[in-house]
Amino acid sequence: MADRIRCLIPYCRRTKRALPDLVTVDREGYDAGYTVTTDIAEEWICHDHWRAVPAATRRLLAAAKRKVKRVKTLTSLLVFSRVWARAKRQATEGAAGI
Ligand SMILES: [Zn+2]
Repeated sequence: MADRIRCLIPYCRRTKRALPDLVTVDREGYDAGYTVTTDIAEEWICHDHWRAVPAATRRLLAAAKRKVKRVKTLTSLLVFSRVWARAKRQATEGAAGI
C-alpha cells in the first residue's frame, strides 16, 4: 500500500491516496546554501479525527504551512513541525476521549 497513507490515530482504519507535498528549505546557519527536501503531507489525520483539533490549532497550522512554502527556511519548517505535533496530540487525545 505504498500509494496510500493511513490516518495516524492508532487503530483508525481510514486511508487516503498519498499526495506528497514536497518542500525544499535552506538549512541555514553553518549549512547555509544546502537544502533539505521533506514531504509535509507524509502524515495525515482523517476527517473524523481532525474534528478533535481546535480551530486555533488548525489556523496556526494553515499559517505555518503557508509560511514554510513562502519563505522556505529551516526555521519555518521547524515551526510547522511543532504545530503539526500539537495537532497530532490534540487529535490523539480527542480520539482517546480525554
Ligand atoms: Zn482517523
